[in-house]
Amino acid sequence: MRGLARPCSLGLALPLPALANSVDFTIAVGVEWLLVVLAALVFGLVFLRWRARRALRDQRSEHSNALIEREERLSLALWGSGDEFWDWDIARNELFRIGADRLLGHGSNHDSVPIDIWRTQQVHPDDVARVEAAVTAHLEGRSEFYETEHRVRHHSGKWVWVRSRGKVVARDDDGKPTRIAGTARDISQDRRVARERRIASEVLRSMGEAVAVIDLDFNFVSVNPAFSRITGYLEDEVIGRSSALLDSVQHQPAFYQNIRQRLGDDGRWAGEMWQRRKDGEEFLGQLEISEVADGEHVRSHFVAVLTDITDTKRFEQELRYLANYDNLTGLANRALLSERLAHAIVRARRQDTRVAILFLDLDRFKDINDSLGHSAGDRILKAVAARLLATVGGNDTVARLSGDEFTLVLEDIHDIAAVEKQAQIIIDSFTSSLDLDDQHDVVISPSIGISLYPDHGLVPTELLKCADTAMYQAKASGRNTFQLYTAAMDTLARDRARMAGALRKALDRGEFRLLYQPKLDLTNGNITGVEALLRWHSAELGEIPPTVFIPIAEETALIVPIGEWVMRESLVTLKRWRHSGLTAITMAINVSVLQLLRANLPELLTQMTAELDVPANRVELEITESMVMAKAEQTNQALNALRRIGTTIAIDDFGTGYSSLVYLKRLPIDTLKIDKEFVGDLSRDPDDAAITTTVITMAHSLGLKVVAEGVETQEQMDYLREHGCDAIQGYWLSPPLDAHHCLAFMRSWQPVGTA
Ligand code: C2E
Ligand code: CA
Ligand code: CA
Repeated sequence: MRGLARPCSLGLALPLPALANSVDFTIAVGVEWLLVVLAALVFGLVFLRWRARRALRDQRSEHSNALIEREERLSLALWGSGDEFWDWDIARNELFRIGADRLLGHGSNHDSVPIDIWRTQQVHPDDVARVEAAVTAHLEGRSEFYETEHRVRHHSGKWVWVRSRGKVVARDDDGKPTRIAGTARDISQDRRVARERRIASEVLRSMGEAVAVIDLDFNFVSVNPAFSRITGYLEDEVIGRSSALLDSVQHQPAFYQNIRQRLGDDGRWAGEMWQRRKDGEEFLGQLEISEVADGEHVRSHFVAVLTDITDTKRFEQELRYLANYDNLTGLANRALLSERLAHAIVRARRQDTRVAILFLDLDRFKDINDSLGHSAGDRILKAVAARLLATVGGNDTVARLSGDEFTLVLEDIHDIAAVEKQAQIIIDSFTSSLDLDDQHDVVISPSIGISLYPDHGLVPTELLKCADTAMYQAKASGRNTFQLYTAAMDTLARDRARMAGALRKALDRGEFRLLYQPKLDLTNGNITGVEALLRWHSAELGEIPPTVFIPIAEETALIVPIGEWVMRESLVTLKRWRHSGLTAITMAINVSVLQLLRANLPELLTQMTAELDVPANRVELEITESMVMAKAEQTNQALNALRRIGTTIAIDDFGTGYSSLVYLKRLPIDTLKIDKEFVGDLSRDPDDAAITTTVITMAHSLGLKVVAEGVETQEQMDYLREHGCDAIQGYWLSPPLDAHHCLAFMRSWQPVGTA
């Protein structure tokens, strides 16, 4: 900058040689002429001098005008570009600048600053070394020009990113650089944009959604990695090609035309569409296309964001299905049943007909489920669903509400007899076995409760409740049957609730007592044990048999405290008997599965036997077989722990469940109690006799003792003894007795009596 500002002196003496030539010429002429000529010469000289001076002046002013003009033009150009011009005088170590005012907000347009100040105060400390290295490299001739990007301090104190470029413009006689000049430009904005672009492209790269930039002719301009992942096309394979590449045959051409039309008009489109992968496979895409405008707000591109929602959609559909259909059987669920029932009611009212609701519950399904396992249980439920669908017409609704509860809605009913007939057809259809798989088939019976619209209720919930109540009644009257709802049934249902309430208070009121039924050992003819049997005399309801209240106690979990009471009470009795000399007696106590799972039986028993000073090996626990199968893993642990303290385990009601002896072998048990159902038929049913004999033989081969319960006759007694049964229990020997009478019975017992 300095060079341009200083006036240049080259070529100023040009007119002088012409003046010298004219002096030689005048000497040859006369003297008088000499004076004239001298005068003229002087004049001419003066004139010429004047002219020369003027020319010089003109030239000078022209030159300086040009210079000013040039400088102004430079300033203007710099102003236009926003750049700063700088000129570093290396010898004087000073920096001259034009345009620094705008770039850095300094006050004056022309600025000069000692290079040290510039370096220490105006360049960002982190950038100084880099700037100096670049300058040095250029000064030493290692780079053709100097260029750096660095921060300089703005007048406001902020840092401004500049890109500075320069070149050596003057050297001394030795060729050493004396001046470098160049420009600096504010690149903060560029850097910001570049940074944003970097971030944006990083985001695009890492996005899970496919992103494609498309030009206005719908050709791909760029795509991100997710695009390649989702569509199977690499970036190279799509750039420049039409986006129609992804069009699916599932949509008509008009569909795509419509989208392009919308994009043209509104600049955006969002929706779902089928798309075609490179491998030809179709996927459902959620697509959002928006226009991109340039700086002048003119649309230049479209950006499409694409998500593969094939799975999401499938999931949604499944959810919708789940909301209305039972996942296991594919039958309608409760929600859909209510809806269909509501519609059926509307139609019945209009046509003046009836609607029948059949509430169907499988008999003893819990036992089967517990003993065969849940996957077999599931297969049974599916087979039941299929059987129901095959039995009723396709027009009737068949639903599964929960577990083994099914509901049928029969429409267009005119008389009750038709419904009862249909119920019987359903029950009959279950007499043939259900195919589970190649190896198993199972026979299972249903109990059905029936309610009618408008006879028993006007709204679905009411009708369902009535059918449910009727179903309970069907169970109570022996299962495998149907019952039509009657108002009297409500009383029964209420009774159940009342009983549960009474049962809750029974322990506190001391309404329980125990009876003891002796067992006879057939191998030695001695009474070796008794079974404790619970009795409840309710102050409100009178004497309630255990077959009625035990299930309610189990449902309400009251069996846990009640069972604990039974245990303590029976052990107290045992202790007393032992004190009177009967030390060989074993006390058998019935326990429910809930006790086995909830109450810590091994610990409880250890505590109680220690406290009452009775040996734990004089205690036997009776557990039903279905119960053991139910939670095999957990019960097995508890049983093993009980075994360790010496307590023996008997499987109660053996033969009524579905377990096999082979399975039982794996359990830590000691005794099998053959159910009285089989014993009762011993003399009448050859099949039962065969079963009993087989059970005895097999049990013995597994090292188990066999006890037959419900032995009422001498005949049964003889049969069992002949076939090697180890012990018997039943009215033939003795009914359940209170502690006092039982003790008397045992004392008076004569071992010879068995023979
Ligand atoms: P269970 O364990 O099978 O008990 C045998 C049942 O058969 C008893 O009925 C008994 O009185 C009856 N019985 C005894 N000998 C004969 C006979 O020769 N012929 C006939 N037909 N029946 C006979 P009970 O006392 O009514 O008990 C019924 C069920 O209640 C018991 O069946 C048992 O499962 C349950 N139970 C009784 N007491 C308790 C208890 O303290 N806790 C638990 N969890 N359940 C109990
Ligand atoms: Ca028992
Ligand atoms: Ca039994």
